[in-house]
Amino acid sequence: MSLGVHPALLLLLGGATLLYMGRRKKNPPPSGQPGRYFTWSELTTTSRNVDNTPTPEAADNLRALCAQLLDPLRERVGRSLRVNSGYRSPEVNALVGGSRTSQHMTGEAVDLQPPPGYTSKQFAQYVLDSGLPVDQVIWYDVARGGHTHVSFSRTRNRRQTLHAPAGSTGYEPWTPEGSAMAGVGNFEKNPGV
Ligand SMILES: [Zn+2]
Repeated sequence: MSLGVHPALLLLLGGATLLYMGRRKKNPPPSGQPGRYFTWSELTTTSRNVDNTPTPEAADNLRALCAQLLDPLRERVGRSLRVNSGYRSPEVNALVGGSRTSQHMTGEAVDLQPPPGYTSKQFAQYVLDSGLPVDQVIWYDVARGGHTHVSFSRTRNRRQTLHAPAGSTGYEPWTPEGSAMAGVGNFEKNPGV
């Protein structure tokens, strides 16, 4: 043995690894499509090389998010909406530095690329003006990705409005135009970003 490792030891290690992997519980792939205009692949995309299959509960939340918010929004906009980040397993969320209370982990939030002609702020305003049920709407400065975060909850839709400014990792209240539902007094320290 040039490497000085007994083949039996390698076999043993290999067997133990396979056993461990087989034991790790994996979520079953969800059936059908989450929405009329959205696919599981779009809503679970991740650049990280880890499993990002939603739990059955998160899959149900993603279906509700599509039915109540994303599909109707897509129809209003009249063109496809790009999802930059949707569901994140706790592992993926940790890897991308997401909030510990992130609604991405429960399948209640997506980050949308604003359609051409819209800034993230204008698109956030558009979402609110649509009157569709939203829990949180957050617009990100270009320096922080330039996307618009929207969430939908099956139990509460607070219409919280926040801004993620440049030069910070935090969030500020944002008061949308022509609306009494100001972000002021509506601010939460740990948004579901
Ligand atoms: Zn987000």
